[in-house]
Parts: sequence; C-alpha cells; structure tokens
Amino acid sequence: MTDSAGKQQNPETLRLRKVALEAAEAGLFVFPVREGSKLPAFHGKNDCKGRGVCADGHQGWEQRSTRDPEQIRRWWSQTPWNVGIACGPSRLLVIDLDVLPERGVEWKDLAKGWPVLDRVAAAHGAQIPATYAVTTPSGGGHLYYRMPDGLELRNTQGGVGHSIGPLVDTRAGGGFVVGAGSVRPEGRYTVAFHGVIEDLPGWLADLLSPPPQPEPRAVPLQLSTRRANAYIAAILDAEADNVSSALKGQRQITLLNSARTLGRLVGGRELDEDNAREVLLQAATVHIGVDGMTRGEVERTIDRGVAYGKQAPRTIERRSDERDGENGSRS
Ligand SMILES: [Zn+2]
Repeated sequence: MTDSAGKQQNPETLRLRKVALEAAEAGLFVFPVREGSKLPAFHGKNDCKGRGVCADGHQGWEQRSTRDPEQIRRWWSQTPWNVGIACGPSRLLVIDLDVLPERGVEWKDLAKGWPVLDRVAAAHGAQIPATYAVTTPSGGGHLYYRMPDGLELRNTQGGVGHSIGPLVDTRAGGGFVVGAGSVRPEGRYTVAFHGVIEDLPGWLADLLSPPPQPEPRAVPLQLSTRRANAYIAAILDAEADNVSSALKGQRQITLLNSARTLGRLVGGRELDEDNAREVLLQAATVHIGVDGMTRGEVERTIDRGVAYGKQAPRTIERRSDERDGENGSRS
C-alpha cells in the first residue's frame, strides 16, 4: 500500500479513490477493503506483528478508518481497493436487508420488497423514512441512517436478541459496510436512493436498544425530603425543557430519552406515572402538527420510553429520619 511514484495509475484505482474521497467528504470514515471482496484489507488481530501503526497495540479497520484525504490518497495509490465505511466512527446505523428488488426503483416500490421491515414498522404505527440507500451485488440493500447523539448501538443479527427481525441485520459500532461504487465479481454496489442520510427514527432506536441495566447504587444520593422533592422537580423541568426545545430530526429521540429518564423515576415510585406523561405531553405539544409530528406519535413515544425506563427503577435515598410515608415523593 505504499506510494508508487513512478508507476502509471490504474483508472480503476483512481475511480475507487474518488469514491473513497467523496465518502470522506460527506463525513464518513473509510478504509480499504480487499479487491473484489468485502473483507478488510488490513491484517487481523491474530496476524498482528505489533509493528508500524500497531506498535502500541493492534489497530483494526475501525481504529484506522479515516476522513483524512491524504491518508486516503496514500491507501488508494496502487490497488483498486473497495471502499469500507466504518459505521461506528461515522455515526451511522445501516440496516442490511437480505433481498431487494431490482435497482433504480422508487423509494415506495423499494419498500414493498421488505416484508419484514414493513411489518415491523406497521406494528409500530410507523413508516420507514426514505434515506440514502445502496443495493449490493447480491441484490441486498443497505439503508443508511444517522445514529442520534447520545446513543451507542452495536451490530445486530436478524432474528437474534434485539434485532428488527429475520433477514434484517444492522451495522453500527463494530460494523462496516462496503460503499456504493465498490465491486465484487457478481457486480457493483450502486446507489439505490440518492437521498440524504436521515436520522434513525426513534422507534427503531428503541427497538435496537438493549434493555436498561439498573444503575449500581455505590454512593446513594441522600437528600432530605424537601431537597429530594426539589431535585425531582428540577429533573422534570430539565426534561420538559429538553423536549420542547429539541430541534427537527432530534425531537423523537429526545422525547424518547426524556420519557426513559422519567420512566425510571416512575419505576422507583419517585414520580407518579400520569404526572410524568402529562409533563412530557405538555412539553411536546409545541411539536405536534409541525413537520409531520402527530399527537399519536408523541403518545406512542412517551409510552415506549416510560415502559422502557420502568425496567430500570431509580430511587432517591432520603435520610431515614426525614422519610415521609411509603411513597415519599410528595409532601
Ligand atoms: Zn495489528
């Protein structure tokens, strides 16, 4: 992979270099994938000799992926590597569908080809938002979504654990996809839908999130009842603020996260469930009817977030002498 000053450059290498540079310019982290394949070009952990970039420990494709044009030019100087896109560093979640219909179809026709994803979306009263999509040489499809801030998802495998369903994998942290313009013996990866990369819808983020873990209570927060009530009121205010000031594209995930936070307090009997829902609904009212957000969608998001948060109850320790009654959250 060294520079070849004297050599004539292969047009295919130049073409793939351009593909890599354009992906990087669009904000994606790229790395070389072996010619005509979907395997990273770098040595794996088991073959690591601890030299060069690995002198201080093995660096895999995820660590080495880059947006640096100089590095990309060096990598794509001699060999027509395919273009790997590292999902984690790129803040992408890519839905990997096993089979898609023929290329160049309309988004809504494309969606007809995904019975599983369609059914799952319908079950959530949602649709699959049209986004940048790529067809693979074997007729599969990659739907690119942006991972919301504050969320760290890993790969999922169709039908296993917190996945979308059979035949539908997802690639996120620890995963990569081969980008459009790359080639395999069966054909080329091509752009199926030239949209922008949309934000991952909240219901999908929720579906793909592992169940919450109760927080360790190593240092319990010990407050007087009065201060505990003020503390909870401050959380309510802060979450309501987050929800009402959320920007387009972040509204659903913000509401979901706030509902999860309050749901944990509901689970810990620190907060009344109707009260929590009411606060969230009031805060979200400014968004209803704006940019297609409906009241039903808001209510479903609140339902999901509160239900999720309740699985990891959060309680606030009060000093025993001031604990008032069984609930303790109101005076
Ligand atoms: Zn290494």
